[in-house]
Amino acid sequence: MERKKLEKFKKILLEKKEELIKKVNELKKESLEENFEEPGDPIDKAVTSKEKEFFLSLREKEKEILEKIEDALKKIDKGRYGVCEICGKNISEKRLKFVPWARYCIECQEKIEKNIIEI
Ligand SMILES: [Zn+2]
Repeated sequence: MERKKLEKFKKILLEKKEELIKKVNELKKESLEENFEEPGDPIDKAVTSKEKEFFLSLREKEKEILEKIEDALKKIDKGRYGVCEICGKNISEKRLKFVPWARYCIECQEKIEKNIIEI
């Protein structure tokens, strides 16, 4: 991939990273505040724990994306960015614009989703 394009993707990834870190920190703060709340009546409690679950799962998902972004940034430094980890073909730029931290090309991703190949 051209250097200029790489720099562009790097910028996108860094911006997304910052955005996610902020989001994760906000979620952390919210769930911490929840812990200090007085236990209410059972209905209130049920809603709170459901919300908490939601925040936790959201946080897990954000963390997962953060890890993928870190990976992608390392790949940029090593000059391996945009190359499918399974078949070694270039991942299309269209796909990278949509999922800048993509590790696999669309063909391999589809195979993974259909359980044709295992990772
Ligand atoms: Zn592939």
